Amino acid sequence: MRTVPPGAWLGLLGGGQLGRMFCMAAQSLGYRVLVLDPGAASPAGAVADAHLQAGYLDAAALEELGARCAAVTTEFENVPAEALGRLAAHCVVSPAAASVAVAQDRAREKRFLAGIGLDTAPFAVIETAAHLEAADPALFPGILKRARFGYDGKGQARVANLAEARSAFQALGGAPCVLEQRLALDLELSCVVARGFDGATRAFPVAENAHAEGILDVSVVPARVPAALAEAVQRATVRTAEALEYRGVLCVEYFVVQGERLLANEIAPRPHNSGHYTIDGCVTSQFEQQARVMCGLPLGDPSAHSPSVMVNLLGDLWAAGEPDWTRVLSNPRAKLHLYGKTEARPGRKMGHFTVLAPSVQQAAEEALAIRAALREDARRTPLARSA
Ligand code: ATP
Ligand code: MG
Repeated sequence: MRTVPPGAWLGLLGGGQLGRMFCMAAQSLGYRVLVLDPGAASPAGAVADAHLQAGYLDAAALEELGARCAAVTTEFENVPAEALGRLAAHCVVSPAAASVAVAQDRAREKRFLAGIGLDTAPFAVIETAAHLEAADPALFPGILKRARFGYDGKGQARVANLAEARSAFQALGGAPCVLEQRLALDLELSCVVARGFDGATRAFPVAENAHAEGILDVSVVPARVPAALAEAVQRATVRTAEALEYRGVLCVEYFVVQGERLLANEIAPRPHNSGHYTIDGCVTSQFEQQARVMCGLPLGDPSAHSPSVMVNLLGDLWAAGEPDWTRVLSNPRAKLHLYGKTEARPGRKMGHFTVLAPSVQQAAEEALAIRAALREDARRTPLARSA
């Protein structure tokens, strides 16, 4: 692939926070970014060099993107594969529509993972009510997950038994689902890998993730697991990227059960929330790596220069008004990232912060203390706060 030099335009499908952080990384390398997003105000649109406000399948918008941009990427997996396919006729597209299509569908994704020798949680594909009746009773208690368009635990229902699964399937509109056995998780891990057009791969350090109500809460890096397990995670993630003939940045999420048994949960065909720590904690961030792949540049060094702990800032923290950011900023090793969203809703990702420290334990202690203070503030009324 020919190298795309700085100064060129790069295209981005989607205007969320991942897109915003991609814009910033690409711009600092000297590229200009054109964002396609249907919304008038979006986190990425606000920082992009230009924003095309149109739908992802808008023919004129796709044509303009293809004509102006040397390379195009996406920030979310639910972008119509057709849009990527159409753009591929005009410019470099990473990742390719075919890779995104695997990650868009939980049933395909799970079959793919099994096909490359990775274990997953036991599951059944549920496309009709009859499939549910025939499902192995050992899958209960389980989680019924929509096969497509789920994120942050949305489109999922915890079901104790068949009766609950029947009503959950109905509530999900009878859309295709997978029924997964609910497992006792010892740990959740993830790994971000970049793979270039030349087939070179670089794996970032493994993150240890804690979720709350299906949404990522905290990522601790390096994960506090034996080196052999972390290496197995990196190898499995590289294998995933290679088997998909992937070009770009992807993340694989894993469960650890029964001590050291590794199960692959899902593939995100893009930079990932659990990789935000790379902005402040690694030589190269996941977003810079994404720009490097698109532009045919050599991949950067993914190694961490410091242990780091990332905490998501959800809209719940705005319950008593705009949080007091000195809680974060008064720690000289805490790095605050706000996404510029004006409306804070419970569960909405508004920003994150990362604490860097000489030890992972210290980073975790300081990050959790900041989080506790922000939560405490949010519990008080604005009146009580000013008193
Ligand atoms: P995201 O896209 O934000 O990662 P998602 O909506 O795609 O989320 P999953 O990753 O499938 O959802 O699940 C979200 C979280 O729910 C997991 O990280 C895990 O904490 C929990 N979870 C999911 N599946 C299982 C399972 N089979 N057993 C136990 N816990 C599970
Ligand atoms: Mg997930």
